[in-house]
Amino acid sequence: MNVQRTLDSQVLVVGGGLVGLTTALVLRHHGVDVTLVEKRATTSPQPKARRFHVRSLEIFRALGLASTVREAARDLAEHDHMATGRTLAEAQQLPLWRPSGPDGDPVEPSPELPCLVAQDVLEPVLRQAAEDAGVRVRFQTELTSFAQDADGVLAELDDRRTGRNDQLRAAFVVAADGARSPVRAALGIGRSGRGAVGGPNVNVYFHADLSDVVRGREFNLCQLEHPDAPGALASVDGRFRWVFMAGGAEVERDWPALLRTALGVPAPDLDVRSVLPWQPEMLIADRYSDGRVHLVGDAAHVMPPFAALGANTGIDDAHNLGWKIAAVLSGVAEPALLDSYDAERRPAGWFAADQSSRRSGVTTTPDPTLADPFVLAAGGFQYPAGAFAGGPDEGGEIEPITEFAPAGRVATRIPHRWLTPGLSTLDLAGPGWALAVADEPQRWAAGGIPVHRLDADFLPPGEGLLIRPDDVIAWRGTDPTAPAEVCAKLLAGG
Ligand SMILES: Cc1cc2nc3c(=O)[nH]c(=O)nc-3n(C[C@H](O)[C@H](O)[C@H](O)COP(=O)(O)OP(=O)(O)OC[C@H]3O[C@@H](n4cnc5c(N)ncnc54)[C@H](O)[C@@H]3O)c2cc1C
Repeated sequence: MNVQRTLDSQVLVVGGGLVGLTTALVLRHHGVDVTLVEKRATTSPQPKARRFHVRSLEIFRALGLASTVREAARDLAEHDHMATGRTLAEAQQLPLWRPSGPDGDPVEPSPELPCLVAQDVLEPVLRQAAEDAGVRVRFQTELTSFAQDADGVLAELDDRRTGRNDQLRAAFVVAADGARSPVRAALGIGRSGRGAVGGPNVNVYFHADLSDVVRGREFNLCQLEHPDAPGALASVDGRFRWVFMAGGAEVERDWPALLRTALGVPAPDLDVRSVLPWQPEMLIADRYSDGRVHLVGDAAHVMPPFAALGANTGIDDAHNLGWKIAAVLSGVAEPALLDSYDAERRPAGWFAADQSSRRSGVTTTPDPTLADPFVLAAGGFQYPAGAFAGGPDEGGEIEPITEFAPAGRVATRIPHRWLTPGLSTLDLAGPGWALAVADEPQRWAAGGIPVHRLDADFLPPGEGLLIRPDDVIAWRGTDPTAPAEVCAKLLAGG
């Protein structure tokens, strides 16, 4: 190999999809020097994921990007409804589902609203943000091999823009290289899970000006039941860009004719852009970490799209991993802290993938063990074990999943409450740690961790909550000297 340059970076992110770009942004937010390589020349040409749950928006909020993402999402701002009909021309909107609290009152679960934005719109926004934040973003550059030793990872890169082969030495590699993940394969990491869930599908991405047809009954997803052309129509921009999802594996069909049947209108400008076969699958990597290499996003987990959790779970992986890598690189934490990435995020991946699989629509019997949709959307999963003290593994209180009832339990995301207009409990931590206390801050010897007075229903007098940089509660109790000790122990990997 003709190696022309050797470069250094603290972290190499492999893959410039949604999750790789988010990982790079999280790492930069924590001051880490990052290089991202993406073998393609452009971001995703396919709309793919469109629904971003409140937890993802909270993470974009932490990165200072929530309003930028929302601006990118403006085309689908009024498209929350589901719809159904024999054809699009006959379709009706269904009422909106709204979350409610234990007493039936609507709850405000997050400082952010969910949003609909197609992945091919969001990825360029994240790419620009990553470049602006100082990530070295190198598209048309492929990781061809890598080797790790005690001090770091040596990566071989094929840069197709320059025709050069570079070597890059990094302390850590984050593999965001998608479902087929060459990095995962090179590490010999297998996957477990249900495998295929339901039958094959075909996604037909097309352009047609349907703005007059949908005006006044805008939708996110419209179930079409015409016997000759059943399927679901997804709004990509709500006017010109659409994805029709049909069951079956047949790719070669007269799609324009079939689409016109499903639409129930002539659509003279209809133009099919791509036809992609896909198979819903549930597969989770057997390890998320191998030495200095960590898997995130689809490299770590693939799941059916029924709860729209694939990309959202990957964004959460990035948020969990980013602060830990940064803490190790800065010397604040021992490398053992990174063991908690697999301990926390692999069960979270299983949970999301299992819940998605069980929403496949294959069964019609209501399943009382399914998680409340808001538990899925607001990151309500409680880590069973990891970088916290007094969690479920130590007899701590268990967060329910069949109702959305966050109560500030250890190993869960801190519940949202407004502190002042525009300032949420979720804004207290990140990029550093925070301590929220229900009494006088002076009583707490927090060892440099900022202490905030919090009057909230879930925090009784005398108690404090230690909050990690990723909003996860690491400890809860009344001992004013405990938070500093717990934080030091967790950073030491204890
Ligand atoms: C039709 C469809 C609908 C979906 N809807 C939703 C939804 O509503 N909500 C949701 O949350 N999720 C949804 N998903 C899932 C979502 O699209 C994926 O979870 C998401 O794209 C995963 O992002 P990623 O960055 O992990 O992987 P990818 O987007 O696959 O990106 C991986 C990148 O790595 C690059 N790469 C691979 N190997 C190398 C290498 N050696 N060197 C350099 N680069 C490399 C690839 O070129 C690719 O760009 C949907 C998916 C599909 C297909």
